[in-house]
Amino acid sequence: MRIGHGYDVHAFEPGDHVTLGGVRIAHTQGVKAHSDGDVVLHALCDALLGALGLGDIGQHFPDSDPRWKDANSRVFLCHCAQLLREHHYRLVNADITVLAEAPRLGTHRAQMRANIAADLETTPDRINIKATTSEGLGALGRGEGLAAHAVVLLAHAENGNHGHDHGRSHHRRGR
Ligand SMILES: [Zn+2]
Repeated sequence: MRIGHGYDVHAFEPGDHVTLGGVRIAHTQGVKAHSDGDVVLHALCDALLGALGLGDIGQHFPDSDPRWKDANSRVFLCHCAQLLREHHYRLVNADITVLAEAPRLGTHRAQMRANIAADLETTPDRINIKATTSEGLGALGRGEGLAAHAVVLLAHAENGNHGHDHGRSHHRRGR
C-alpha cells in the first residue's frame, strides 16, 4: 500500500466558468492558469504521483511547455492512470476536498466523481469529493481563488484482488 497527498491552488481572473473534476461550472470569474486550472485534478494527479514516488505534476507537465496551454487536465489524469498501470498499482480510494467560497459544487459532484473514476478505470464509490469554505479568512476566504487537497491510497497488483474476488480464489487455492 502507498499513500499520497496533493494540493493545488489557482487565483481567479475575469471569466465565466471554472473547471473542477473535468466539469465546466458556470461562475462569475475564471481561473488564472496555463492549463484549464482544474484544482481538483491537479491535486489528485500530485497525490497519485506522490504515492508512486514520481515527483509532481510540474515535472511531468511543465507550464513552460506550449503543449499544455489551456490543456484539458483530464489528459494529465489519464497520464497518471497510465503510470499506475505501468507500476502495477491500482487506486483503493481517493478523498478530495475543494476549498472555495464559490461556486458551490452541488449537483456537479456526481459528474466529477464519474469523470475521475472513468479516467482511473475504477468506480465512483472509490472517489469522494468534499467541499468547504474558508469562513471568510485569508485569500481563499476573500474569494480570490480556489484550492483543493487530495489524498489517495494505492494497492500493488499483488494484493489487487482483495475486496473483489473474495472467497473464490481462497477456496480454489485450498483445493
Ligand atoms: Zn493547478
